[in-house]
Amino acid sequence: MHYFLSGEILALREQVQAIAAEVVLPAAEQVDAQAAWPEAGMRALADAGLTGLTAPQRVGGHGQGLLALAALTETLGRVCASTAMCFGMHGVATAVIAAKAAPHHDEHYLRPIAEGRHLTTLALSEGGTGAHFFMPQTPLVRDGDSYVVRGSKQFVTSGGHADSYVVSTLASTPSDLGDFSCLVIDRDTPGVAWGEPWAGLGMRGNASRAMLLQDVRVPAANLLGHEGDQVWFVFEVVAPFFLTAMAATYVGVAQSALDATVAHLKTRRYAHSGESLADVELLQHRVGQLWMGVERSRLLLHHAARLGDLGSPEALTFILAAKADAANTAVATTNEAMTLCGGSAYRDNSSLARALRDARASHVMAPTTDMLTTWTGRSALGRSLF
Ligand SMILES: Cc1cc2nc3c(=O)[nH]c(=O)nc-3n(C[C@H](O)[C@H](O)[C@H](O)COP(=O)(O)OP(=O)(O)OC[C@H]3O[C@@H](n4cnc5c(N)ncnc54)[C@H](O)[C@@H]3O)c2cc1C
Repeated sequence: MHYFLSGEILALREQVQAIAAEVVLPAAEQVDAQAAWPEAGMRALADAGLTGLTAPQRVGGHGQGLLALAALTETLGRVCASTAMCFGMHGVATAVIAAKAAPHHDEHYLRPIAEGRHLTTLALSEGGTGAHFFMPQTPLVRDGDSYVVRGSKQFVTSGGHADSYVVSTLASTPSDLGDFSCLVIDRDTPGVAWGEPWAGLGMRGNASRAMLLQDVRVPAANLLGHEGDQVWFVFEVVAPFFLTAMAATYVGVAQSALDATVAHLKTRRYAHSGESLADVELLQHRVGQLWMGVERSRLLLHHAARLGDLGSPEALTFILAAKADAANTAVATTNEAMTLCGGSAYRDNSSLARALRDARASHVMAPTTDMLTTWTGRSALGRSLF
């Protein structure tokens, strides 16, 4: 089912489907078992020009928006949630850089991204403010033509692997615009260091490491927009793209659990009675519930993404709800699938067990499911989000 995707998005998705089948799926078990960053999959996506998905057409990118990001990230999420998240976060950070790009950003970041030569990611969360990722405490100090950044970021997807990082900070001086600033920091900048290798319960290929910023000197030209004006990023760029990429990853995870369940019930037949599990009415009912959940989450996500691409003032509420709903569906579907697939799913390292572990991250990846559900309610009640 393609939910009325454009011909261009369908063609891009076909390319991703081929890479998912030929490169990402064969590596998925090892990526999880060894907590290894999905190098081969990300390389293949870059070589095919797909990491230029959200880069503007003026630099040779595809210039696509939320719906394309949703469709392609879900395709990867069906076979490897870690690869989906690395791809998704790259697409989000690219969109953030593109949103107010100056010529310097086009040449140093967006053109190499469009040409498959550069990976980027988001480094927003901090230990001090946790799930409140939109409240950075990292100071920014102006020094001539540079900024000096000292602080640390937690859980940076593709940490140490991406070539650049969109880092949030405070403004160097208080202004009427606000505090929230964003700048791009190259991986090899002196003073950038990395915390312990990532070995999470799930999303084990994500390389979600702490990024330590020890008096990192960054050219002033790497600032995105103006100091303090980036609060609009949170609502107009960061949140829509970030939430869409995460929701799509987890719709993919849920779909993979549903597919595994259907395959198991259709192939399992008892020796004593000859009965197929697919003919047991209770199991048919439970599969029906799973199917409804996954389709509902995908439809909500695609509707939200389409509203976002159209610039609808209603879009944000739908996007907030879509990520919360996808997280609930992914956790519930993988949990139920573990029951319906019996002991074979519970064995060591089954792909369903991996999906269950990967799905759990969806509730805690900020904005968390509780926060998003509350914000959706506030929006419905006509209250401000914060
Ligand atoms: C696999 C993975 C990948 C990640 N990738 C990135 C990334 O690429 N970039 C990045 O910047 N960050 C990333 N993160 C970080 C993530 O977005 C969150 O910031 C982080 O998981 C929050 O963890 P915490 O322990 O600080 O949560 P805490 O802040 O301690 O929150 C714990 C719980 O309290 C709840 N809570 C807190 N305040 C409220 C409130 N007011 N109302 C209701 N509930 C509340 C939260 O919802 C949460 O459920 C990643 C995290 C994971 C797990």
